[in-house]
Amino acid sequence: MTTAHNSTQLQAVDIAIVGGAMAGATLALGLAKLSTTLSRPLRIALIEAHVADNQHPGFDARSIAIAHGSIFELSRLGIWSKLKHLGTPIENIHVSDRGHFGMTELNAKPLGLDALGQVVELAKVGSVLFDELAKSSVQVYCPAKVTDLQAQQDGHLLLLDDGSQLHCQLLVAADGAHSVVRQHLGQTTEHVDFQQTAIVANVVCSAPHHNWAYERFTQTGPLALLPMQNMAASTQLKEPSAQLTSSAKGLSRYSLVWALPPTQADDLKNADKSEFLAALQHAFGHRAGRFVDVGQRVSYPLTLSYMPRPIYHRCVFVGNAAQTLHPIAGQGFNLGLRDVVGLLDVIAQAFTQQGEVDVGSSALVHQYLAARQHDRDSTLRNIEFLVRGFSNQYWPLVAGRNIGLRLLSWLPPLKRPVAQTAMGWR
Ligand SMILES: Cc1cc2nc3c(=O)[nH]c(=O)nc-3n(C[C@H](O)[C@H](O)[C@H](O)COP(=O)(O)OP(=O)(O)OC[C@H]3O[C@@H](n4cnc5c(N)ncnc54)[C@H](O)[C@@H]3O)c2cc1C
Repeated sequence: MTTAHNSTQLQAVDIAIVGGAMAGATLALGLAKLSTTLSRPLRIALIEAHVADNQHPGFDARSIAIAHGSIFELSRLGIWSKLKHLGTPIENIHVSDRGHFGMTELNAKPLGLDALGQVVELAKVGSVLFDELAKSSVQVYCPAKVTDLQAQQDGHLLLLDDGSQLHCQLLVAADGAHSVVRQHLGQTTEHVDFQQTAIVANVVCSAPHHNWAYERFTQTGPLALLPMQNMAASTQLKEPSAQLTSSAKGLSRYSLVWALPPTQADDLKNADKSEFLAALQHAFGHRAGRFVDVGQRVSYPLTLSYMPRPIYHRCVFVGNAAQTLHPIAGQGFNLGLRDVVGLLDVIAQAFTQQGEVDVGSSALVHQYLAARQHDRDSTLRNIEFLVRGFSNQYWPLVAGRNIGLRLLSWLPPLKRPVAQTAMGWR
């Protein structure tokens, strides 16, 4: 690994990845592993603006659910074995519609699985991924920011804020929703504003979670609870509330994502603890027990934005730089990881077909576009449908979604395709 440079010397690499959070870091590790199997090693650079600490925008205090299909891919990339100890398995998911009759369950056992997915805390994942990068062949520029870039016929020239310059054949933008690469290249996104804000916090409940996750559609927006490791098992967590421990017998920790209209989210974010817990209890009910504590509340505006064509001359976009999803279905990183795997597959294939490979060639970039199109289009369509369908109180829609949820619980074979989508199987 190379850390922040202070030289104006031009470094030539095959692939430069801008952004080293979930998508960029997993891609860099995947490329380093792939490189050992190719006819020539790849020169890979990763440029990340922030060191992994609790101010990191991509490895912050959030927990995310990684679907079963993504665990399979991370295992194939040799990454999951390093993260496994951080995971809390989701064995069952309970889905319900507040105030209506519709509810259903998705269960791992009938599908022959140990878990439908795993919950991980991003801050901890970030430090493991950066430890692995330090042992790899990837040249890591961190903390360093790309401040300018020039598209050239044979690649891109990148200028970093520490004065370093890099030339790459292929530029990968993994720099998130407000991608600087996208702005420099004059590319735009389609944008849907759902007029919702998510409150994200860790909460403690009075009952053990037994590895259940919950998704509850309320009148104001969806509310999700993901089971977490208790504090005893999770000693490294930079937990905002000192009292937020669940090591006492019978308590459990969940990661809460609660989508609300922006003004209501603002009020609840700033409400005192008891008022917040009472509102949460009212919205969610008592299925998980009594909410007894909440940590720091953080809010995220909820939008869906995506690039219709996530490519440019010698450049591909992955993860949130290509599309930023509403967290309703917990698919953001899962879809981003499929971008990463799609790109790795296209590069591996190019090396099996030709002797001399230009990893930034127009053919390779277009193969990536074709490989990702169907999955991206259908995932984006499904999520917009879910958000609009379940945030709406128009009675035919309410009746339709409740009948849909009931049908899923009465006719278990129908659950398989739903579960497969939730688990990220394509
Ligand atoms: C509340 C919430 C809950 C979620 N829950 C889930 C879930 O359960 N399951 C799931 O799969 N997904 C979930 N997601 C989505 C998931 O968190 C994101 O899709 C994923 O973390 C995005 O990773 P990324 O690497 O693509 O982008 P980002 O995390 O945005 O990272 C971009 C990186 O680029 C760096 N960067 C930016 N500009 C520059 C520059 N000029 N130079 C160098 N570096 C730069 C930034 O520092 C940052 O580290 C959730 C999201 C939210 C908001």
